This record gives sequence, structure tokens and C-alpha cells, in this order.
Amino acid sequence: MTLPLTELTAELASLSEFLALLECEISRADNGASVAVLVLSLRRSDRINALMLPSHAQEARQLFSRRMQPILRDKDKFVFVSEDECWFILPRLASEALAILAVHRLLNELAKPFKVASQTIFFSPSIGIACAPMHGQSAVSLLRAADIAQKNAWRDNHQFVLSRALEEHGALPENLLTVLEEVLDANRLEMRYQPKVALRERKIVSVEALVRWPFDHALKVETTMLIDTAERYGLIELLTMRVLNQVLAQYVAWKNDGLDILVWVNLSARLLSHEQLPQVLARALAIWGVPASSIGLEITESALIHDIEHTTSLLFELKAMGFHLSIDDFGTGYSSLAYLRRFPIDELKIDRMFIHGMTESIQDEQIVQSIIGLAHNFGLPVVAEGVEEERTLKALEQLGCDQIQGYLFARPMPGDQLIAWCRDFHQAQGST
Ligand code: C2E
Ligand code: MG
Ligand code: MG
Repeated sequence: MTLPLTELTAELASLSEFLALLECEISRADNGASVAVLVLSLRRSDRINALMLPSHAQEARQLFSRRMQPILRDKDKFVFVSEDECWFILPRLASEALAILAVHRLLNELAKPFKVASQTIFFSPSIGIACAPMHGQSAVSLLRAADIAQKNAWRDNHQFVLSRALEEHGALPENLLTVLEEVLDANRLEMRYQPKVALRERKIVSVEALVRWPFDHALKVETTMLIDTAERYGLIELLTMRVLNQVLAQYVAWKNDGLDILVWVNLSARLLSHEQLPQVLARALAIWGVPASSIGLEITESALIHDIEHTTSLLFELKAMGFHLSIDDFGTGYSSLAYLRRFPIDELKIDRMFIHGMTESIQDEQIVQSIIGLAHNFGLPVVAEGVEEERTLKALEQLGCDQIQGYLFARPMPGDQLIAWCRDFHQAQGST
């Protein structure tokens, strides 16, 4: 059954409508009335398109709208920003407590699974809440605060988190931009390296380079926040060059010490539209005398599906230059594997969200199992990231996963510790 969405539901048709309404409500939010923003991540059990028909996705969305209707007031609105994420505006609230009450009702509703065609869809929602004027006084700052709260909720396994004091994130951006420019100018970013281990042979195959904010800096900035800020303020090219130069210098140092190892570098989505990307990469390699075949590029799934034609030709160009290519965070971008097959990729990394969940949730395990099965059908090896526990490793081994990466074997480490770590690791494996 199809619903006339606009008439019946609180769902707004577009993000711009949502933002305009939010700005308008924020401007009224003084005199004791506040406006709450909720960022809701649904974590639907069917969020891999490969497992779901498009018509079912549409039906599930309509069902969601219908379920929301009775628990929302007329003035409450929401918008879908992706198949798995919704943003809500709850305007003119007498107190913050009312926002929390609304969240409880929402969670109650989502605790009941949806039936779509012959499928049952479950949710593992997490919600971030932010209120104006307390946590932000513009649509962007409020959404940002709610988004951070949602990520904290997800990370700490809470169903919802209320945004904390303003200074924790509100004051950061302006300051952070200046400080980030200083850090980049002074080339102070640090690198850590995390091994990828072949599961069957228990052998180190490669390492992933992960950037870190300088440890001795007065400000503490998490890597995701660092990347996010660099992307937002147009500093990602510079950051990537800084990273690449450190990585290439490290590769040469390892090689001189007898370790010739493939190093993976993360490429931000924004960089894919950089016209000179292949040339810039080639220049850096030439300076250090490193062959492209010693470097891998990890690109997140969502970045690939943005501008398919351009991405396809770019990836073929990078592949022809000799780079290894990996799809990072697979499972979060709703693309089907059949679709990704057109790209000349060498491996697929399953997002750690699914890996964390797989020993607890049968759905997450099924998702991991089907990703591995499909990837193998296409001849692609699979890496599982975020493996922290022995039982996860055992489960992945049974499912035929090819490589793992995670705290169980090693946390990201400074480059000068890698050679000793590899030796100890192989000795320990040899003695078991
Ligand atoms: P990613 O590429 O998916 O990297 C994996 C993240 O998982 C890393 O977080 C890593 O430290 C973390 N991780 C690895 N094993 C485990 C585990 O067992 N448990 C848990 N809880 N976490 C684990 P990190 O270093 O904070 O990086 C976050 C993201 O930032 C990366 O996700 C990547 O998208 C981006 N990033 C990191 N370094 C760079 C860089 O040099 N350039 C660009 N453009 N992005 C980067
Ligand atoms: Mg990565
Ligand atoms: Mg990843």
C-alpha cells in the first residue's frame, strides 16, 4: 500500500526544507521555549541493498512514517538523510525533559520490528539530542552537536545521549581551524600503523597508516574530528600530502632496515574529485623513489558511489599506475556488491560496526557472512576491521574471512616499533 506522504506524515520532502524550518524555529527559541534536534541512526537489519529489494526499502520507509505519526505532535517534523538516518525537529518545548520523553516513545516504537513483504526488519537505534539555544544557536551547530551525541551513543552502546556542555564541541570549530592550519604548516601530524594479518597463515600482509593529532598538543583532537575539519575547511589536500610524505619516508626507512611491506593510505572522499590526484600521487612517489605497487589506497564505499563515471575512470587510472585499491567501511553505504564490481578493486574491508556486532547479533553475523560470500564470488579477498576479541576471530575464521585488523592483534603503533612487533608476532605464531 502506498501512502500520500506529504499529506499524512510529519516527513519533510527535502533537507533544505528541514534546515529552513530549523533556522526559523531556532530564531524563536528563547523565552523559556527550546527546540530539540534528534539525529537518529536506525541501524536497520536489512541495510545492505544486496539483501533487499528497492521496493521493500520504499515500503519500509512509508511504514516508518506511519509509525511515527501518532507519537509526534503536529509541529514535529523529520527528514530522511539516508536509508538509515533521520533528523527530527521538535520545536517549542517547555523543557529538555520533553525531548527525552519523545525519544523514549520513539525508541518504544522502534523496538517493534517492521514486517515488509516476507522480511522482518529490526532496528538497533541510537539517538543524539541537542537543544537550542543551549547546545547551539544555528541549524548547523545544533545538528553537529546532535551528531556528536549520536556517535557517542553508538560508541558507548547507549540508545540515546543528550549533547553535553557547549564548550565541549561548540567552541571547538573556529579555534580548531586556526590550530589545524598551524599544525599542518609545522608538519606536526603524527602517524600510526596498524597491521593487517592473513587469518589462515597468521602472517602480516600489510599495514594501514592512520593519522594522529600531535600527542603533545594542548588540544586533544580525535582523528575523525581532524579529518572532518580538514575536509570541511578545504585542508584535506594539504593533510593528505603531509600524511603521504610521512608514509613514504617511513616506507623507505623500513625498507632500509629489511622490511618491505605494503602500506595502505586512506583517501578522503573529497580528494576523488581533485583533478590532479594521480599526478600529485605520482610526484610524491617519484620524490621518495617508491613504486606505486608498494602503496594501497583505501577509499570509503560511500565516496565511490558519488560520481560513478568519474570514479570509475579515476580508479582505473590509479590501478594502471600500480596502486592497490581497497573499499573501506563496506556495509555503510548501501551499495550492492554487484554494483561495485565495475571498479578495479583488490579487497573489501567490512566496517567495524558489523564486526563488533557479530558475536552478539545474528543479523550482523548474517550480514558479515553474506558480504564474505558475495565478495568471494567476485574473487575479492575480505578484510575485517575492528577485531577485538578471540571469539570474533574464530567466527570470522569459520566464515572464511581472509584478513583481520584490530586491537586483538595490534593497536595502531609508531613506525619505529613495527619491525620488532612483526618479529615478535611471527615468533609467537611459530611457537603456538
Ligand atoms: P578507517 O580507515 O576505517 O580506520 C579504522 C579505524 O578503526 C581507525 O580509527 C583505527 O584506529 C580503528 N580501529 C582499528 N582496530 C580497532 C579495534 O579493534 N577496535 C576499535 N574500536 N577501533 C579499531 P582512527 O585511526 O581513529 O581513524 C578513523 C578514521 O579516520 C579512519 O577510519 C579513516 O577513515 C580516517 N583516517 C585516519 N587516518 C587518515 C588519513 O591519514 N587520511 C584520511 N583521509 N583519513 C584518515
Ligand atoms: Mg581505512
Ligand atoms: Mg574502515
